[in-house]
Amino acid sequence: MGWLPVLYYTNSNIWPEAEYDKRHAELAKVADHYGLELYKGSWDHAAWLEAVKGHEADKEGQGRCALCFAFNLSRAAAAAKELGIGHFTTTLTVSRFKKSATIFAVGDAFEGFEEIDFKKKDGFNRSIQLSKELGLYRQEYCGCEFSMRRDDA
Ligand code: SF4
Repeated sequence: MGWLPVLYYTNSNIWPEAEYDKRHAELAKVADHYGLELYKGSWDHAAWLEAVKGHEADKEGQGRCALCFAFNLSRAAAAAKELGIGHFTTTLTVSRFKKSATIFAVGDAFEGFEEIDFKKKDGFNRSIQLSKELGLYRQEYCGCEFSMRRDDA
């Protein structure tokens, strides 16, 4: 059975809001290129900050990130349900900075979550190649204000 992907952008972790909009605009180029539908979630950074409270000083990859995955995946799960989509996954696994096992452990709590590891088949390098081909902006930090620290890189 094949899949018809529908894109949902939900990244309230991203700071500042201008960066949230900028990354969405880049994703819109990808959606146009492949002729895919793209939905944009609202930017609710205050709620995200509340969700990771107490973990501001964690380094990237520690507890704050699992909470961040849970926050975003819960929004994706809710959007999928609202749209009548029975299965969803996340592109987070393409990043070499993110452990797929952690993402799956978080995602499995949500109905309809599919474990897809986009790192496989050289996914990370392919994503870089694709961004070059489409002339996409590549961010210099993960997303939240706490990931802007140099020692987190
Ligand atoms: S470093 Fe990235 S994954 Fe971790 S909390 Fe910040 S935005 Fe989320």
